[in-house]
Parts: sequence; C-alpha cells; structure tokens
Amino acid sequence: MSDQLEPDRTTRQLWAEEIFTYLDDFVDGLDEAPASNPADPEVLAALGAGPSTEPRSLGELITVLDGAVRTGAVETAGPGYFAYFPAGGLYSSVLGEAFAQLVNRFTGVADLAPGMAAVEHSVVSWFCREFGLGGGESTPGGLLTSGASIATLTAIHTAREALLDSSGGPGTIYVTEQTHHCVAKAARITGFRPDQVRIAAVDDDLRMDVTDAAARIRADRAEGNRPFLIVGTAGSTSTGTVDPLDDIARLAAEEGLWFHADGAYGGGLWLTDRGQRTLAGIDAADSLTLDPHKSLFLPYGTGMLLVRDEARLRAAHTSGADYLQDLTGSPDLVDLSDLGPELTRDSRGLRLWLPLHLHGTHAFRAALDEKLDLAQWAYEQLTSDPNVEMLLSPDLTVLVFASTHGEEASREMLRRINAGRRVFLSSTKVRGRFALRMCVLSHRTHRERVEEAVSAIHDAARF
Ligand SMILES: *Cc1c(COP(=O)(O)O)cnc(C)c1O
Repeated sequence: MSDQLEPDRTTRQLWAEEIFTYLDDFVDGLDEAPASNPADPEVLAALGAGPSTEPRSLGELITVLDGAVRTGAVETAGPGYFAYFPAGGLYSSVLGEAFAQLVNRFTGVADLAPGMAAVEHSVVSWFCREFGLGGGESTPGGLLTSGASIATLTAIHTAREALLDSSGGPGTIYVTEQTHHCVAKAARITGFRPDQVRIAAVDDDLRMDVTDAAARIRADRAEGNRPFLIVGTAGSTSTGTVDPLDDIARLAAEEGLWFHADGAYGGGLWLTDRGQRTLAGIDAADSLTLDPHKSLFLPYGTGMLLVRDEARLRAAHTSGADYLQDLTGSPDLVDLSDLGPELTRDSRGLRLWLPLHLHGTHAFRAALDEKLDLAQWAYEQLTSDPNVEMLLSPDLTVLVFASTHGEEASREMLRRINAGRRVFLSSTKVRGRFALRMCVLSHRTHRERVEEAVSAIHDAARF
C-alpha cells in the first residue's frame, strides 16, 4: 500500500507548484485587488463541511480556499490597507516558516536542536544589541512569542516574580487610559484585580503624565500597597503616541519599579534614526515587547519579548519533569521553554532570521523610513484641507483626524472612503471624539497608494 500521508517527490513538487502558483498570482494581484470584499454567505456556509473519507484534488481544495481567503475579507496583505496595524506579510518570512515547519525541529529545549534554537537566540540577541539592552552585570535575552499579548503576559509574570514577594502588600501596576488592553488582560490572568491596575492621567497629547504617575505611586506606597510595575507605551494602538519613555524610566529607577515598554507597534521603528529620537528611553526598559507582525512586516503570529536581564526571565519560568531527564541542557544555550510559558512551540526563529539575512538590515531601515516619510507627507496634505481637522501631530506613522462638519460627517467620511475599495481605514476615539485613523505601515504601501488615500479623504470630506 502506498503511503498516502507521505507523497513521493513528484507529487510533492506538483503540489508545491499548485500552491505557489496560486500564492504568486495572489501576491501579483495585490495592487489591483479590492481593499475589502463583500461577504458571500454561501461560501461561508460551504466552509462548514467536514472532510470526506476519500482524498480530494488539491486544485479543487485551492478553489475552496480562494473563496475562504476572499469572502468578506479586508485585504490586509495589500497596499491599500491602512486600518489597525498593516504589515503586509513578507514572502521571505513565509518561506522561512515553511522551511522551519518541514525540518520540524523541536526548539523548546536546546538539546534536541541546538542549531535551530540558536537561530532564534541569534535574532533575539541582535535586537537586544540594537536596543542597547544589557551592559552592567546582566545578560539580556528574550524570546519570540505568538504576539505582543503573550509577550506582555510573560513580562508581567516575570516582573512580579522578580519584585514582589509574599511579605508585602498588594502589588500595583501603572498604566494610562491609552495603554493597550493586553496589559490589563495579562494582569488579570496573572492574578491581579482590576483595581490593582492604576490609571495615571494623560496630557493633552495623550502621553502619560509622569508627575501624576509618581504621585499615585507615592500615595499607594503610603497606603501599604506595593507599586512594582509601570508600563510606558512606545506608540499607542489608538493614535501611535509615544509616552515620555525617558521620564518613565527615570521614575521607575527612583521608585524601584520594573519598567515595561510596550513597543508592539512602535518598537520596530527604533531601527530608524528618527525612530530612535522619538523612542528615546525605550533602551532603559527592563522588558520590552515588539511585534514583528506589525512594524517588521511579518505575517500575523510573531511577537517578541526582550528583557534586560535574561536570568530573571529564566527564574520566572524554569521548571523540570522526570520525562525530560535525558535533556541535560546546554551550557551556552538557554532552553526556550525556560524563558516563557510554552514547552512545545513552533520553531519561530527562521521567520525573522531568513528575511533579516536575505534582505539585509538596511532594507528594513529604509522601508521603515519610507513609512515615516509617507505618514508625514499625508499629514501635511491633510492639514491644508479646510474640511479636515488633524487631531494630533503624528509621532510615528498613525494619523488621526475628523471632519470639521461634526461627528456624523466623520462617520460618513469613513464610509465613503472605504466604499471606494481602494483603501481601507479604521476609526478610534481621540479625547472622546470619533476620529478616522490611518496607519501607514505595510511594506507594500508606497507613495502612489498614499496619494490615492489622501485624495479619497479630500473627496470624502466635502459636505
Ligand atoms: C497590537 C498591540 C498589542 C497587542 O499585540 P498582539 O500582537 O495583537 O497580541 C499590544 N500593545 C500595543 C501597543 C499594540 O499595538
């Protein structure tokens, strides 16, 4: 009997060709593809069908998948995607992922695949060096996660293990209303009540008011609480605003708090000179997250946690078991499973290692610089439109604006812009007011599409 689950080389090559023909057509079609697609209930209903006992042809399945890809979907891979955080999804990263999955190394422990574990460590180390972490006694480190939410959870658990012990009062955490909700979620999962997360005030530009945070920390301590963690946002989700990271770092040092910098969106822009000026102070963080699936253009599913002192990350996660007794550990390579909650995990390093080595780091810096330029250009264009009010000047690549004709007009503007299906924007609230939001970040977004977006905004703003 032939082994149906292990196709021969000819079949493999045919399959690969069918899949990659579809995918290459998809990529080549992105320029012309609509920015959003109508939902087809029949396609969705058909996707509910279970598998049959007998095999089906790959070609037939690709047709099913094409429906799945398109129905109701926003074209998140395309150049017209300006909503939330576009990244595009690097082709080279997809190839790295396919490579990693086929060789199927187990990278949870270094003993079973030291080389592939080293690939992930090398990516993390490169970012630690870029961010200037380390120095002094400690060795920096970290790991790749599925996203910033899990990286944040890992960071908060580590901070608690490092700074809180059972003798003190309840631990308290300092954020602002602009902090991503994954911090509150992580705090809840790690056992903090919602009221242990303190909301410091923000200034008119929505940045943390560090004086207010300091006052809350002192008041909490006076009441017998244990302030231990402050989160500074290096590019907020809503408006792309950067907290005063330098001041937060100073406060954290004075008060003996753990400083976590949330660079899920903005962290990647540190690779540019402008980004380094805007994000000054992020390099003083005890832990920082960034999302390669945002500002390093990777497909969804890769986040990163970096810590100043890897020993603390390890101390918070190391555990053992009888059935792992053969694995003695490598003196030079920390087991990735000792740095986070996962044991078995996908081997994540190649997703970043391959693009970084294949394209070189300059390509990333240049692409990020281009996004900063494009966002600035769009900001200048829209500032001169009498029908548009810019609500903040951009720190990085997020623009927020509203119609000068009131809230209903702003909502209608967004509907008009997205109805054109060449670009897709989302909305948020700025100081309680409905705002349109445009984020320039996809590696596929260049000047022509930003020009189109700007002219669609001008047209939609006329009432
Ligand atoms: C996107 C985002 C997160 C959450 O990241 P996920 O990768 O979606 O889990 C956290 N913080 C900020 C600032 C973000 O923009």
